[in-house]
Amino acid sequence: MAKVRTRFAPSPTGYMHVGNLRTALYAYLLAKKYDGDFILRIEDTDRERYVEGAVDIIYDTLRKAGLIWDEGPDIGGDYGPYIQSERMGMFKGYAEQLVESGHAYYCFCDKDRLEELRKIQQASGIAPKYDGHCKHLSKEEIQEKLDAGIPYVIRQKCPTEGTTTFHDEVFGDITVDNSVLDDQILIKADGMPTYNFANVVDDHLMGITHVIRGNEYLSSTPKYNLLYEAFGWEPPVYIHCSPVMKNATEKLSKRNGDASFEDLIKKGYLTEAVVNYIALLGWAPKGEEEIFTLPELIQEFDVSGISKSPAIFDTQKLKAINAEYIRRMSLDEFEEMATPYIRQTCKKEDVDLRLLAEMLHPRCELFTDIPEQVDFIDKLPDYDIAMYTHKKMKTNAETALVALKETLPVLEGLNEWNMDSIHNALFELIGKLGVKNGYILWPVRVAVSGKQFTPGGGIEICDLLGKEETLRRIQIGIEKLS
Ligand code: GLU
Repeated sequence: MAKVRTRFAPSPTGYMHVGNLRTALYAYLLAKKYDGDFILRIEDTDRERYVEGAVDIIYDTLRKAGLIWDEGPDIGGDYGPYIQSERMGMFKGYAEQLVESGHAYYCFCDKDRLEELRKIQQASGIAPKYDGHCKHLSKEEIQEKLDAGIPYVIRQKCPTEGTTTFHDEVFGDITVDNSVLDDQILIKADGMPTYNFANVVDDHLMGITHVIRGNEYLSSTPKYNLLYEAFGWEPPVYIHCSPVMKNATEKLSKRNGDASFEDLIKKGYLTEAVVNYIALLGWAPKGEEEIFTLPELIQEFDVSGISKSPAIFDTQKLKAINAEYIRRMSLDEFEEMATPYIRQTCKKEDVDLRLLAEMLHPRCELFTDIPEQVDFIDKLPDYDIAMYTHKKMKTNAETALVALKETLPVLEGLNEWNMDSIHNALFELIGKLGVKNGYILWPVRVAVSGKQFTPGGGIEICDLLGKEETLRRIQIGIEKLS
């Protein structure tokens, strides 16, 4: 088998949406699975959509995601240039070649005529399509127009009868009636190629063996395939991916406020988790396991697992995967990563970061949740005493007042202040009073944290705050409840 060569060919239009990154990821995985090359080609010929700085976003995103390209604009390679606008000179000759072989033709129709044609077609409910007006011009007629300096484009000459079939690895064999194929423009009046032409020539010249892209290109692929045939080139293997959706009807799109890759990272998701999740958007691994690092994905990835149906972006699932990556971190690693987030709201110098990391680690889903979770350490929030009411624990403001009054002297009397001593003291009290654990533990937790949800339990929080601060907060609880 020839060396597998895949490419990611983004247009620099501003940001990297999740669907884009998924295309890049699949192209990368396929290349690496077969020890092939992953090529980055920047398709920047649509100057109207070009956004300054967008190429850097593409570089940064791919690098961050670990999708390192083997050839590309910044590192070069044997098939450059890798920026489409720098390749502009090479296309016209290929189009002329097709004119010679009868697979393309000069078209001198002006804007007004095309506009008129479109109107007529629209009025009679026909899909807009070039009518072949210039297809049969004689050599002399063409020369005359060229000599007169009439602007022209070069159009692909599509067959009008019969059918064209191509194979897509995801969608299977696709057959279209040639009668629906539009004689698309290959070279524009300014001599520049259209995307539809450039992508075929570039893919061929760059030796691309597998074309992975969004299925919005599926309907154009018969025409691309006819171009390969006309040149006598071997077409690539086609792998079209269905879009990533926000819900059953809407595509995921940054323009509608949906998160781009960068946004997800800014929101605190781990890059590895995002990459793992994106791989699962439209691809199913063979077994049950869904957590894969990038090297594992290379092993696992298989085109047969790509789904025809659109994938729906599920934030809950992404969160669960992120949480799984956090759980798999060592405590050291977690502490190191969590500390800056802790320090956003917890400035207390002598806080036991290790203990706090231990408390946060098992339940942390997202690092950016941490600042809000630990903000009670520096300053007891001004909480509502309704928080003392807990149905399951069978506590309310009255029982809580009793519980805190019983707890205060017990904790006051402790000489040693650590998790064990606090635990033993409180459970001794629970035994003595003959109450359920929650009768004491819930009010203590509320009093020391002022929060409904806390990392870790009341005992851990008492340990973390230290004796003096714990007693002060229990005192405040008693006053609030009295
Ligand atoms: N430049 C095209 C895009 O960003 C790439 C299409 C392709 O992969 O062929 O949509």
